Amino acid sequence: MSDNSYSNKYDVIIVGAGPAGVSAAITCAKAGLNVIMLERGEHPGSKNVMGGILYRHPTEQIIPEFYKEAPLERHITEERVWLLSKDSAVTMGYKSKRFDEEPHNCFSVFRSKFDKWFAQKAVDMGVTLICETLVEDVIMKNGKVVGIRTNRDYGDLYANVIVAADGANSLIAARAGLHPEVRSNTLALAVKEVYSLDREKIEDRFNIDSEGGVTIELLGDATQGLMGTAFIYTNKDSLSIGVGAFISQLMKQKISVYDLIESVKTHPMIKPLLKGGETKEYLAHLIPEGGYRAIPKYCIDGLLLVGDAAMLVNSLHREGSNLAMTSGRFAGEAIIQAHSDGDFTAKGLSTYKELMEHSFIVQDLKKYKNTEKFFEEHMQFFTLYPQIADDAAYEFFKVDGIPKKEKQKIIWKQITNKIPSWRLLLDIYNGWRVVK
Ligand SMILES: Cc1cc2nc3c(=O)[nH]c(=O)nc-3n(C[C@H](O)[C@H](O)[C@H](O)COP(=O)(O)OP(=O)(O)OC[C@H]3O[C@@H](n4cnc5c(N)ncnc54)[C@H](O)[C@@H]3O)c2cc1C
Repeated sequence: MSDNSYSNKYDVIIVGAGPAGVSAAITCAKAGLNVIMLERGEHPGSKNVMGGILYRHPTEQIIPEFYKEAPLERHITEERVWLLSKDSAVTMGYKSKRFDEEPHNCFSVFRSKFDKWFAQKAVDMGVTLICETLVEDVIMKNGKVVGIRTNRDYGDLYANVIVAADGANSLIAARAGLHPEVRSNTLALAVKEVYSLDREKIEDRFNIDSEGGVTIELLGDATQGLMGTAFIYTNKDSLSIGVGAFISQLMKQKISVYDLIESVKTHPMIKPLLKGGETKEYLAHLIPEGGYRAIPKYCIDGLLLVGDAAMLVNSLHREGSNLAMTSGRFAGEAIIQAHSDGDFTAKGLSTYKELMEHSFIVQDLKKYKNTEKFFEEHMQFFTLYPQIADDAAYEFFKVDGIPKKEKQKIIWKQITNKIPSWRLLLDIYNGWRVVK
């Protein structure tokens, strides 16, 4: 069923040299397939934005022991979660010596450096990488995707299979008719600043040694009550600070992400961490956060979607790059199978769907399939509850001669003055049900 009647014909064309595209490219190249990867940026990573926590497990499945040579910042030894209200933070977290031992769990990275290194690995394995090339359309024949149109002269290329790894709001998926109408409540807009700060200051303020790192996920007031999160991650001599919220909510509340990041940076719990530093870089990007219900068809005749192009982000767990790499690898494995069968139709590529559906990717996204809708309909989790948690913690920790039993009653009264007890218990129960 393969059609060899075109010049400029490859086994595989990959659009986008992010983690998904490169993982697919390496998997195919290892099997000896003739792969070309097209990237619109000056180099891989130049257009990419990530908080940036990179996970070891999925990366090692592409490049074993990558951490011995890849450009990484710090291995993460502590994960913190801060629930912010106007002037306080209710905090929890986990720090472990086990995260300090090799092989580490995850790392802070700069995508501009990591993606460049990762894509070079693909090139070393025989993949042709062409940068500064925008793929503008897909070429269809008899209902099958057979090639792509680029912005270069004579820029049409053909392949047995095209992999759309072009990220959130994928043009390729849209042109192939695979993306449902993009809705503002399935996409979040995020901004990130790289904030330079002396290495010693970072290590003192975050209580880490010269190699270890910390992540802080910020909820509540960090997004001024919008559905979203903010973060601070430690790099070697800078911090990555960012915030994101659903576009629909930003539009409705007429709040810009630029205002949000300013308010994160000036929050009384955050400001002291940043003192003496300055903004080095400012980036903005979309995140597909529609979850399981927003996943389009994985493949059609001649085309597969991977990573953000397939809306694969687990926002509750800050996971995106790992879903991108794993889906890219699965796509590669399905292409190898299709190549040996000589069948590049959706049926011939169906191994991809099978691998996806048996993997943590789809199982996790399915587990959380109702969370977006639930939280959208229960905005009190972003507004009222952080304040309730703050007031309760303040009362609990304040030593003022009031007996503890009396204190418990005061706390409960304070809470039920703000929300009826039945409503609170129902929200807790329903909240637990959507994440269990
Ligand atoms: C602010 C922010 C913080 C995040 N934090 C984390 C985190 O800490 N950990 C984590 O795991 N995930 C995080 N994510 C999510 C993660 O970045 C993505 O899930 C991941 O990058 C998806 O990889 P991808 O290869 O599918 O897409 P991308 O990384 O977006 O790569 C797509 C590539 O395609 C190229 N491209 C696009 N269109 C075209 C075209 N038409 N022609 C040619 N090339 C094209 C782009 O230039 C880009 O290089 C974060 C995202 C954001 C925005």
